[in-house]
Amino acid sequence: MDIKKLLEFDRNHIWHPYTSMKNPLPVYPVKEAKGVRLKLYDGRELIDGMASWWAVIHGYNHPVLNDAIKSQLNKMAHVMFGGITHEPAVKLAKKLIEITPSSLDAVFFTDSGSVSVEVALKMAFQYWISKGREEKSKLITIRRGYHGDTFGAMSVCDPVTGMHEIFRNILPKHYFAKEPQIPYGAKWEDEDIFDIKKLIEKHHKEVAAVILEPIVQGAGGMRFYHVEYLQNLKKLCKEYDILLIFDEIATGFGRTGELFASFLASVEPDIMCVGKALTGGYMSFGATLCSRDVAMTISEGRPGVFMHGPTFMGNPLACSVALASIELLLKSNWQKKVKQIEKILRQEMEDIKELDGVKDVRVLGAIGVVEVDKNVDVARIQRFFVEKGVWIRPFLNLIYIMPPYIIEESEVKILVGAIKEAISKGIY
Ligand SMILES: *Cc1c(COP(=O)(O)O)cnc(C)c1O
Repeated sequence: MDIKKLLEFDRNHIWHPYTSMKNPLPVYPVKEAKGVRLKLYDGRELIDGMASWWAVIHGYNHPVLNDAIKSQLNKMAHVMFGGITHEPAVKLAKKLIEITPSSLDAVFFTDSGSVSVEVALKMAFQYWISKGREEKSKLITIRRGYHGDTFGAMSVCDPVTGMHEIFRNILPKHYFAKEPQIPYGAKWEDEDIFDIKKLIEKHHKEVAAVILEPIVQGAGGMRFYHVEYLQNLKKLCKEYDILLIFDEIATGFGRTGELFASFLASVEPDIMCVGKALTGGYMSFGATLCSRDVAMTISEGRPGVFMHGPTFMGNPLACSVALASIELLLKSNWQKKVKQIEKILRQEMEDIKELDGVKDVRVLGAIGVVEVDKNVDVARIQRFFVEKGVWIRPFLNLIYIMPPYIIEESEVKILVGAIKEAISKGIY
């Protein structure tokens, strides 16, 4: 297909994430991708700073992951999960139970991150229904969170930065605590927990669960908060009979330097969501894990089954590539790689703090964030980045990178250099 025609059709007929049909922002046609490079139709190559939104941890077009899909494809691409099981699903579930917090014991496979959040919320509500406490039908979360674009997930996204503010009259109302203020690694002050504590004390009788992203808040603000916040929260949830749900969809599979962000705080949830990097970024897939207590309580209540079951549940291709991706990760020296990326990010980003217009610079694991003083002109800054040979996609006032773990030191430096240059030239 002629590339001009392709782009014209795209512009006139295809929605992209959060875009307008009337005034679409430019899109860049990618022909192939390999390792940490995206190759455009005009032959230019871009160093990928986004890992396609936290997902592509091993880089693109990885031979091991390609082989996992190919060999599964030759057996079966898909089969229904109602009344049927298969080896890829069983092996993946076993592996997930093994590597996630020890509290988690049962796995529900989902189609995407958002759906795994829907499933987590449903599990929490059904748990209390089974216990005869239907009045526990509210949720507590923290501001600046992001949990996905479906309705249940939207209802716990930050009401402003979570991008769903316009639906406020349609969404169910839940309770929002002030977001944690003490950054990860800073000096802890008990005051940070007071707001959510007050909400819990006041509303616990009607609250089914607290849901939040552990330690790293992603698309709602790219913030890193203190481990003691989670530790205190866990105690409160226990004390007041509230389930704790961790959304590890962005943070899971090593991004923070631990396999899961909750390990940084040594806190175990009752229910946990994974997605994004689960398949190494190969396809949409997710899972919701829960404790034995949650699973058994739901199963012993009325109607005795968990009320969810999507058509493509446990898709064998997705399970195979997810298992291959996890095994590849565990076999690699990912901890050392993430630590290295963290070190270079800290070094290289240090002097960005001094630039005009920069409010904050923060790094945790393989995540580097620059917060500037105004919302970024995405089309303008992306044109600049592409000219510089890098792929970085900011949102709001946040210019951030979270590259595939296989990235070279020199490539991280090029990514950070491009950010530095854009900011110092005022191109944002
Ligand atoms: C991306 C994301 C989701 C939603 O996942 P999708 O696969 O886009 O539906 C949910 N929670 C968090 C923390 C995320 O980063």
